[in-house]
Amino acid sequence: MAAYALTQAGANVVLIEAGPLWYATENSKMLMWPYQSPRRGASTKDHGFGEFDAAIGGFSIEGEPYTRAPGTRFDWFRSRMLGGRTNHWGRISLRFGPHDFRRKSLDGLGDDWPIRYEDVKPYYDKVDRLIGLFGSKENLPNEPDGLFQPPPRPRCYELVVKQAADKLNITCIPSRLSIITKPTNGRPACHYCGQCYRGCLTNSNFSSPSVLIKPALATGKLTILANAMAREVTVDAKGLATGVSYIDKATGEDRRIPARIVVVAASALESARLLLNSKSALFPNGLANSSGVLGKYITDTTGSDLAGFIPRLADGLPHNEDGVGGMHLYMPWWLDNKKLDFPRGYHIEVWGGRGVPSYGFGGGIQSYPGGGGYGKDLKALYRHTYGAMVGFSGRGEMIPNDDSYCEIDPDTVDRWGIPVLRFHWKWSEHEIKQVKHMQDTFEALILQMGGTLLWKKGAPENDYGIAPGGRIIHELGATRMGADPKKSVLNAHCQAWDVKNLFVADGGPFVSQADKNPTWTILALSLRTSEYIADQMKQGAL
Ligand SMILES: Cc1cc2nc3c(=O)[nH]c(=O)nc-3n(C[C@H](O)[C@H](O)[C@H](O)COP(=O)(O)OP(=O)(O)OC[C@H]3O[C@@H](n4cnc5c(N)ncnc54)[C@H](O)[C@@H]3O)c2cc1C
Ligand code: SF4
Repeated sequence: MAAYALTQAGANVVLIEAGPLWYATENSKMLMWPYQSPRRGASTKDHGFGEFDAAIGGFSIEGEPYTRAPGTRFDWFRSRMLGGRTNHWGRISLRFGPHDFRRKSLDGLGDDWPIRYEDVKPYYDKVDRLIGLFGSKENLPNEPDGLFQPPPRPRCYELVVKQAADKLNITCIPSRLSIITKPTNGRPACHYCGQCYRGCLTNSNFSSPSVLIKPALATGKLTILANAMAREVTVDAKGLATGVSYIDKATGEDRRIPARIVVVAASALESARLLLNSKSALFPNGLANSSGVLGKYITDTTGSDLAGFIPRLADGLPHNEDGVGGMHLYMPWWLDNKKLDFPRGYHIEVWGGRGVPSYGFGGGIQSYPGGGGYGKDLKALYRHTYGAMVGFSGRGEMIPNDDSYCEIDPDTVDRWGIPVLRFHWKWSEHEIKQVKHMQDTFEALILQMGGTLLWKKGAPENDYGIAPGGRIIHELGATRMGADPKKSVLNAHCQAWDVKNLFVADGGPFVSQADKNPTWTILALSLRTSEYIADQMKQGAL
């Protein structure tokens, strides 16, 4: 987004990218049938979500380790491709609400942002118009409506979920995904092939290479240095950023690119690593770290799942249920915390249905009633149960805490000799209680649909099934913004307090997590920061 907005404003931009070039419109495997591969779509080392998935990267990358403090479980998903994780994300595109920017004022926990919803709203609107998303106007208190295109109709199993949610008084509305259902800015509408994770050949969903980078290249003002691993932001004697040193991965050579302004957007934690590694006589603790807050207060979304077998959906008539590559319905947070034993909330994502059969079967046929067997009986059971599984994923808000942070591991470097991150992580009681509530709600929904659980629900001995830190892949914080330079890395424009020509444009500036997926807010903030940079340059202040 920063490359797009800055080139539109007339700036010359060099984008340093650790991975190769990758464009969904050219490289997507959207039209591959599972039977065209002997693996039938099963995951590989580099494609953890399936072999056709548009991901290069994963929770572990050869030669690029990270470490964990003793007793810590934190898993870090990293992309190494142009556009990063926007190539294979779920495209759930939610705005943060007015309360999400001022939670400390409301419940005394965490911190307030130095900006309010009203500061970001114009940029959400611009992102909606530029990229496009579908959804429905609902006027819910902390779930702002966007400039939505019409949503697709619910599928059969989603209607069953909606019935159950209505009975239990759980708000259940059309999902909000950055997939266009009307032609938008030269891109055709989605044709409902259901394969968004593979990247879209027709450019009908959002991935940054096809939607933002290509128009940026068309200005003639963008140069991409691919397979270039940034090592350090360099500074001059006055403490201003002078450019970036990087490794040319093809040759292993160290190089440097000079720049008037440096925007760091390598994903929240990788950006913190880059700044922590940018040490100099002026900045002995890392660049922009006079507060000592760099790397601190990292968060991830809380997560837990549960699935059920729904007999009403068994022996379903075969029909095309593809739709968009993702859910058509979801449940935003619907309760009042005053009546609960935990702060903040979560939303519920819904999965199931009759998508293209591939490797694996709904968590394993053996977990279904009467599951297993051989030959004809087994095939009959597959047909009987196919499409009768419905699952729920809770995605909630973690409150930043002093025990969750990253730092440079003094003893470990990656294959280029760059020091790596070491993680410290702790869920607090708030998150564990929230996940217990998720599990109880999922069970109630499954029972209301007349179903049985496909696996045991979370219990105290496994912290109610809370996913390990990092596993929901919504890591945020580490370069937080704030109103006080002693307590934050960046000001309200995502500009480093200590280095006025250094900015951060990823999830690092976030002060709180919210119960929403973060990427729409990352895009809106990046656009806001980029417009600020352009404005300051025009005024001669930068
Ligand atoms: C399977 C999956 C599903 C998801 N679903 C959703 C969803 O539905 N909704 C939502 O809001 N979010 C979702 N997310 C999260 C979302 O993808 C991220 O929030 C978003 O991509 C973050 O953008 P980013 O630019 O900060 O980081 P990234 O997308 O990770 O991009 C970082 C870029 O920096 C490059 N890079 C890293 N280090 C260096 C270096 N040292 N030098 C040079 N380049 C470097 C990387 O190669 C990459 O191109 C999902 C993620 C995954 C993996
Ligand atoms: S479902 Fe729509 S947006 Fe997704 S890959 Fe298919 S055509 Fe593209």
